[in-house]
Amino acid sequence: MTDMADFGVYIHWPFCQKKCPYCDFNSHVRETVDQARYGQAIITELETMAERFHLANRPVKSVFFGGGTPSLMLPEITGEICGAIKRLFSVTDDIEITLEANPTSVEAEKLAAFRDHGINRLSLGIQSLNDRHLSFLGRQHSANEALDALAKAQQVFDRVSIDFIYALPDQTTADWLAELADILTLGCDHLSLYQLTLEPGTAFTSMAKRGLLEIPSDELSLEMFKETQAHCKAAGFHAYEISNHAKAGQMSRHNLIYWQADDWIGAGPGAVGRIWSHHMPNSENDHETNYGRIETRCRKHPDGWLDDVTKTGSGIAEENQETPHAYAIEAVMMGLRLADGINIAAIEGKAGARHTWLDTDAVARYCQQGLLNEEAGILKLTEHGKTIMNTLIGEILIL
Ligand code: SF4
Repeated sequence: MTDMADFGVYIHWPFCQKKCPYCDFNSHVRETVDQARYGQAIITELETMAERFHLANRPVKSVFFGGGTPSLMLPEITGEICGAIKRLFSVTDDIEITLEANPTSVEAEKLAAFRDHGINRLSLGIQSLNDRHLSFLGRQHSANEALDALAKAQQVFDRVSIDFIYALPDQTTADWLAELADILTLGCDHLSLYQLTLEPGTAFTSMAKRGLLEIPSDELSLEMFKETQAHCKAAGFHAYEISNHAKAGQMSRHNLIYWQADDWIGAGPGAVGRIWSHHMPNSENDHETNYGRIETRCRKHPDGWLDDVTKTGSGIAEENQETPHAYAIEAVMMGLRLADGINIAAIEGKAGARHTWLDTDAVARYCQQGLLNEEAGILKLTEHGKTIMNTLIGEILIL
């Protein structure tokens, strides 16, 4: 059962040129980075994880370089990491290897070299086609620069995804739909469209607390969300995840691993992984334990992580066995984001009877109200249900 789960590798490159005011990712601004040393440390951590979790024969379906800004990496370093992954694991013939990139002119110049060093899919963080909004979001590129970078990316890569942020302060639905109409002409097969959210600890959140920034009301955000779904659908995109839209066959295989609560290892500062394994932390006899899902969390600070890898071969700061209940909660929370929903029997197979993690009365009630749909053991949100996804998920889970 568990060996059949898809398996991916996440690499976290934690450095950025500048901290964006809305960002709560583990990103750090540095004048200089010893790229060779960080790249080697990532490879060392991958070697440790492969051995510790017995992953040598596990086919890797996808690799994702995220951050931070991995397009600031030297392409040769991504090549060395890709080479190590191919050496350490078995890889599938159609492996997807994605790099997140910012669309500055400097990074655009490196795209062909990234392809030559193993990257076969690009995720370009354009965020807006409006220079005023780009400046508000603290981005380092202009709209024209982003369009130039996209054109170059489309010449180099068969698969290019583009990210945008909407529901910005003072943005009307008409403003956003005009921008979305332009986005839909850009010839991409994958769109990630996120509403601006105020994350704890960010500059935007402290501005909002001081009354200097106000995001659109829930009603306006909802209207923008519904219109976004409708316009993307009319343009031939499938909203396979709540914020992600793809043409046929172009879904992000890597992100599906997260949303389907499959397996991945995460290497690099702050990276998180989840993997079914015989290896059990705190167990005196690994071989007599059952399979369990292990969550790993690497140390967040780049210098501390680098020290740990140098001394011990890994920057893992926390390693815990997930309870079956915790697995079920994650599988529901992530899986209901998907248009395909969740397979209840499959989760029961790993986490036990549904009544221990799912409020079946609440599910029946929301099905009657047209917010959820359960058919042949598959539970999914209806279009109406998607508009109150977080509330619904909170109501049906037994925490
Ligand atoms: S470039 Fe990306 S990771 Fe870096 S600060 Fe901005 S949003 Fe965060």
